[in-house]
Amino acid sequence: MVYIHPEECIDCEACVPECPVEAIFHEDNLPSEWTDYTALNAELASQCPVITEQKESMESEGNCAAANG
Ligand code: SF4
Repeated sequence: MVYIHPEECIDCEACVPECPVEAIFHEDNLPSEWTDYTALNAELASQCPVITEQKESMESEGNCAAANG
């Protein structure tokens, strides 16, 4: 699982069309059924390392450990 840090994100929306499962929305376009996850995303993003380099896709994504590679 990958989280978007709300303070690191610059709202460029480059990730929105790249998500293969269409799970990323700009907060202004977030469907109402997903609003409860905004706070959870922020909480978990603060616990994960910031990805600063391009990585291979995560075929078996699961948690922060997968993001650490
Ligand atoms: S690519 Fe996505 S997460 Fe990264 S800064 Fe742009 S909107 Fe934020």
